[in-house]
Amino acid sequence: QKSQPSDTTLAHSCTPKTIGQLAREVGLFSKEVEPYGTTRAKVRLEIINRFKAQPDGKYVVVTGITPTPLGEGKATTTLGLAQALGAHLHVNSFACVCQPSQGSYFGVKGGGVGGGYSQVLPREEVHLYHSLGPLRRRSVEGPDSSPLCFRYIFYFSRGPCNLCVGHKHAQAAFLDCLKHPHLQGELCRSVASEVMAVLVLSTSLEDMRCRLARTVVAYSRVGNPVTTEDLGISGVLAALMREAVMPNLMQTMEGSPVFVHTCPLSDIAPGNSSILADQIALKLVGPEGFVVTEAGGGAETGMERFVDIKCRASGLCPDVMVMVASVRALKMHGGGPAVTAGSVMPKEYLEENLTLLENGCIHLKRQVENAMAFGLPVVVAINTFSSDTGAELELVCARAKQAGGVEAVPCSPWAEGGAGAVELGQAVRRAADTPHRMNFLYDLEIPIVNKIRTIARSMYGADNVELLPEAQDQKGLANLPVCMAKTHHDAERKGVPTGFTLLVRDVSVHAGAGFLYASVGWVSTEALMRP
Ligand code: ADP
Repeated sequence: QKSQPSDTTLAHSCTPKTIGQLAREVGLFSKEVEPYGTTRAKVRLEIINRFKAQPDGKYVVVTGITPTPLGEGKATTTLGLAQALGAHLHVNSFACVCQPSQGSYFGVKGGGVGGGYSQVLPREEVHLYHSLGPLRRRSVEGPDSSPLCFRYIFYFSRGPCNLCVGHKHAQAAFLDCLKHPHLQGELCRSVASEVMAVLVLSTSLEDMRCRLARTVVAYSRVGNPVTTEDLGISGVLAALMREAVMPNLMQTMEGSPVFVHTCPLSDIAPGNSSILADQIALKLVGPEGFVVTEAGGGAETGMERFVDIKCRASGLCPDVMVMVASVRALKMHGGGPAVTAGSVMPKEYLEENLTLLENGCIHLKRQVENAMAFGLPVVVAINTFSSDTGAELELVCARAKQAGGVEAVPCSPWAEGGAGAVELGQAVRRAADTPHRMNFLYDLEIPIVNKIRTIARSMYGADNVELLPEAQDQKGLANLPVCMAKTHHDAERKGVPTGFTLLVRDVSVHAGAGFLYASVGWVSTEALMRP
């Protein structure tokens, strides 16, 4: 691997422009921003009204192949592409990313806001403070503080009597539930993640208020749902979230604007950045500009949720889909050895190995087909590592071409920043001019099991789905999209897994966020895993 200063050293070598200057450059008036310190600000939602009549810019969504421990670099490519478009190709650009988990800063998890010369600044603020200011706001925007969020709901539910008048039964049932320590944990996680999903999917302050009001926080003893509205706390919650719902303006190392908003929670929620951040950015860049937004996970998970859940809620339709792949991750999909944290990198990933890569390209083909199922132009971005050889890059480009005629472009946003993604930016601009029509994977009107079967078969390659008894009694809620749990097959299975039945353990309703959540597992029906 090329020797390059660490992400932290590189980030510290740049001095970000002041938030006032950044806000002016993107066309915000001072009354439209609420600065936090000198390098970040909340952007008020009223801005959308000022731009009501203006057409949106081009909407680019970045997804990837199925993630591996070797990393593909989706966030790095998202930020590098925004830098290439803005600073090098001189069109207005904006990146929209999620907040990273705090674990990433302590080396516990992968990154989330890029790396090398394509990062969000200031690094510490985005990683540790979640770019949100007071604890109050973090409580609803960070997975690590989910219990805190729940405590707010708990606190308000038993708070001053005037909040709960007329809802004594609901409150009693709710408090009853909380007495069970296990149940309390379950409720905590699911309610807090739903609050995050509400933030992701809200299209206005009023929409957020309505979604919060119908959020189910418990069930009464006879099984009736208890919402925040029943508890008389929906208004208080909306007030609590009033600031959290405003996107956080920050910048990349090259000074391109970024919205860092909402946190991924991609195993239990859509895992995308917020609709409001995308909407505002699409107005700010103007009709000729580009917004590059990241969809977490791979094309079969994050991208599927992006289209079927987020785009349904927003009404927005991407112009281009960028699929990030790396040679080393494809080699792992082709049967390369497992890598554990702290171990020596196996030579297969550091030396040319066309056989493994050729095998792994079957995974790329599958993911390109998945991406094309949504009817959008696709560009493959090969995030290059210094160990990649020319022959390896050529092979990936050729295989991408064969998989539906898509263009694959090697890029180096990590080593060169925006300059390393100029060709990618040009390819994205060409693709954005291609006529297209986005389609959803399934109709909302079909039965829940058919939606799940469609996703499982067409995206995951499952033979079939089997609903366990607990998952079978959600008949009245058919009109919502389905958010599938992250791990749809054994994470050890690479390549193009086939020969398995998807087990649906449970289907729960996130009435506030507006989706059904299917918690899934799998059983093998054949031994075949790899080419
Ligand atoms: P993802 O969004 O796919 O999880 P990130 O973009 O957050 O991946 O990158 C994960 C980590 O990999 C970061 O620490 C980043 O610095 C590193 N990384 C990304 N691309 C490269 C590259 N081309 N060469 C070396 N390291 C890279």
